[in-house]
Amino acid sequence: MPAPRNAASRATASLCSRRGQWLLCSLLTLAGFALTALLTRQLWHDSQAFHRQHFEQLAEERFSRLDERLRERQRDLDSVRHLFESSGEVSPAEFEQFTRPLLSDNLALSWAPLLQTDMATRREQLQAFSNRAEILVGSRFQLREADPAGNLQPLQARDQYFPLLFSVSRSITDLPLGLDMASPGPRRDALEAALRSQQISASAVLRFTSGAEQDRLGLLFVAPLRAPASTQHTRGGEAPLLGALFSAVSLRQLLEEGLAAEFQSSLALELHDLEDAGSPPLYRVGTPATDSPLHASRDLRSGTWHYRLTLRPTAGFLLQNPSLAAWTVALPGASLSLLLGILLFVLLSQRQRALALVARRTAELQRSREALRISEERWTLALDGAGDGVWDWDLLADRLYFSPAWKALLGHAEDEIGDSPEEWRSRLHPDDAERCQHALLEHLAGRTPRYRCEKRLRCKDGSWLWLLARGKVVERLADGQPKRIIGTHVDISVRKALELELRQSNGRLQGLLEAATQVAIIAVGADGRIRTFNAGAQRLLGYEREDIQQQPLDPLLDCPRLAASAGIDVPAGGALALLEALLGNRRQHRELETFLLRRNREPLPVTLMLSAIIEPDGQRGGYLLLALDIGERLRARQALEERSQLLEKLGAQVPGSIYQYRLFSDGRSCFPYASAGIREVYEVEPEQVRSDATAVLERIHPQDRERIISSIQQSAHELTRWQEDYRVLLPQRGLRWLRGDSMPERLADGSVLWHGFIADISSLKQVEHELRMLTITDPLTGIYNRRYFLDHLGRELARHARTRRGVSLIMLDIDHFKRVNDTWGHDVGDQVLQELCRRIGARLRRLDMFCRFGGEEFIIICPETEHSQALYLAEVLRHLVQDTPFARVGQVTASFGVSSVRPGDSGETLLQRADQALYAAKEHGRNRVCGEPEAISA
Ligand code: GH3
Ligand code: MG
Ligand code: MG
Repeated sequence: MPAPRNAASRATASLCSRRGQWLLCSLLTLAGFALTALLTRQLWHDSQAFHRQHFEQLAEERFSRLDERLRERQRDLDSVRHLFESSGEVSPAEFEQFTRPLLSDNLALSWAPLLQTDMATRREQLQAFSNRAEILVGSRFQLREADPAGNLQPLQARDQYFPLLFSVSRSITDLPLGLDMASPGPRRDALEAALRSQQISASAVLRFTSGAEQDRLGLLFVAPLRAPASTQHTRGGEAPLLGALFSAVSLRQLLEEGLAAEFQSSLALELHDLEDAGSPPLYRVGTPATDSPLHASRDLRSGTWHYRLTLRPTAGFLLQNPSLAAWTVALPGASLSLLLGILLFVLLSQRQRALALVARRTAELQRSREALRISEERWTLALDGAGDGVWDWDLLADRLYFSPAWKALLGHAEDEIGDSPEEWRSRLHPDDAERCQHALLEHLAGRTPRYRCEKRLRCKDGSWLWLLARGKVVERLADGQPKRIIGTHVDISVRKALELELRQSNGRLQGLLEAATQVAIIAVGADGRIRTFNAGAQRLLGYEREDIQQQPLDPLLDCPRLAASAGIDVPAGGALALLEALLGNRRQHRELETFLLRRNREPLPVTLMLSAIIEPDGQRGGYLLLALDIGERLRARQALEERSQLLEKLGAQVPGSIYQYRLFSDGRSCFPYASAGIREVYEVEPEQVRSDATAVLERIHPQDRERIISSIQQSAHELTRWQEDYRVLLPQRGLRWLRGDSMPERLADGSVLWHGFIADISSLKQVEHELRMLTITDPLTGIYNRRYFLDHLGRELARHARTRRGVSLIMLDIDHFKRVNDTWGHDVGDQVLQELCRRIGARLRRLDMFCRFGGEEFIIICPETEHSQALYLAEVLRHLVQDTPFARVGQVTASFGVSSVRPGDSGETLLQRADQALYAAKEHGRNRVCGEPEAISA
């Protein structure tokens, strides 16, 4: 270190030694205290002076206010005097009118004329004055005088009297009319003083006997009134005395009234009688005085009395004492001085410590520089020995040193390469130049801890050599600019060749992985983190490769489910432990159906193929997971199951059976599907007819079987809808009506498959039958009605036309049936009709058809019956009616007409002839049978 700096630092050190620091800080603190004391003293003095001035100013104002009041009262009396002087004669009304406005500042104003008497006629004179006065004031007027205590007494004999003639007052009654103001006491003293001085005089302090308590103490002002100078009396001497004017004023009015609040609260006023030393003050105003050297006084003197008015400050006045302000300076000043002293002490000791630290660090730096130099030499030697090229670049001189090993790396001899940076730049591969330049500049600028770059340099033979350049700035200027950088070049050509090969094979593998978008391929390292996540895995599981790579496998596996699929317990330790457990100790590969978890936590059904990755050293280096999405397959399987369940349910709910019926071209048939209802409709098991329909076909009613088989064949041939009602004979429920309905479709092998249903419609058929019977029978008798008869007759005649077999009609009508109704009533008539039908119906053949033709008229169609046979039958029937009496009615008879078919007959002609025969039977006396005329003749 240079000598002057050493000297300076020593001086600083001595200055900042601990004792020195103490001294300096104490001095600073004491100086602060002294300055604060000076300031405080000055402030104290200033405040006292200000205080005194303020007091004096207030006192002066107070005294001048009193003077002003006294002058005002004198002016009041003067103005009354002028009234008398200018008017000559003043009436009581004028006096009152003039003085009334003055009562706001005076308690009373009075006028007392001078009454001169002589001893001889005094009594008469006084009486005459009283009389005049009584007329003038308009009220009773009595002359009196007052003793010193103020009590009214009879008038004493005197030469001069001053009886009050006019008096106007606010509240006091101390000045009654007729009172002689020259009666002995303070009034007379004041009157005499006024007469003596010819000026307005004030009395000593009086105590009024009436009026408000606060106004009891007061003064009486007296003004003598003389005749105006212009009158005759003035000639040759002093103007004659006319009387005296009086005004009564209270001390309160003089000393207190209209005072500002500041006076009241700041100053205490006292009025003392100096003639009566030691007596308490005559009057006091304001709050009591406090102990203070400040005071002001004013002497008041008139005639025999001598008063002193004293003003002192009150506690309120002293409270505004600004001496408090001195303390507000003294305390912060003292504290600030103390704080400054402490701060200085702290700063000085900090600085001393910092200087010591600098000295220590400098010594350390020196030592480490030396160590660096030695180690630099050491590593240069070591690197050279290892065959790595060393370079050392002096940036300021722009010289680049290359070690012999460096030159040898490129195939050059020691002397073939100079020390210019150009040597290096000219050999750099153009593709690497920019990258290396950037890395170098970053390090030189101090943004990277060291320079590192892989690059190619041209060798002597023109080939490119891959090198790893590493370096570090070892020296910088004071402004941070780099001065020297040292580094090495290591041959990495072998590693680069390997890397290239690896990259190529990696690229091929990556291509393969990316191409497989339908299968998720995930490789997991031995640490359980994902290394490979192909496009298929991204697509199936919904993760982005960047997000999941290097992350644990756990979120992808549904461990409990996976373990359950493999039939093992979930091991502790997460996904990796589970993979280990799945493969076991020896197993290299395993395949199972399970679920993976998508990013949105939805399970993804997969076939999972799990393989262990075996490292060259035989250790497990991780796992390879291949997952195939089997969601579609599972969904299809599930949909199929749901459909067959639905079909099953529908089949169970629908009355009858839903079925598929298949007819092969060789005539075999079967029911590939038949719902449970087939057990009901055919009383067979579905399995029984699945491959052979014979059991069903055998159940069909023999009369319907042929029709059904041929309609099935027609439907198969034309591929039209098959719809049939037919009967079956079931082992348990016997005869049932079935209705089949189905649509055919031709299959590829030529067979036909119908889809449809069969329902049991037996009850439907029954209803149908009953309905039909209702439309063709007569409700009263239950035999066929006329409409059905006409239909049937048509059919019988058609049959006759085909077979030529005879057909006869027997028509019958009850004889005199009207009488039955008339005699026994309509109900009994109905019973006769029913009984007759029962008797005849029971006798007829099944082939014969018995109909009610209308009213009590019936007709029977007798197929395959010749005329003679019909006549015989009619006769039998006539006996059936006639021979057995009917209940209640007794015997009933009927007439019969018979006709038989002839060639060319229509229903109409046949019926007409039967009707004619019946008519003939009636004509011939009733209860008989008539046939065809020819037949009768025959
Ligand atoms: P005749 O021997 O000439 O046939 O005399 P008749 O009284 O039977 O003759 P007619 O044809 O004039 O009278 C038929 C009567 O039969 C009239 C009617 O009151 C009665 N009749 C028709 N249908 C019914 C029925 O359904 N019930 C009842 N109680 N009487 C019927
Ligand atoms: Mg009739
Ligand atoms: Mg009749």
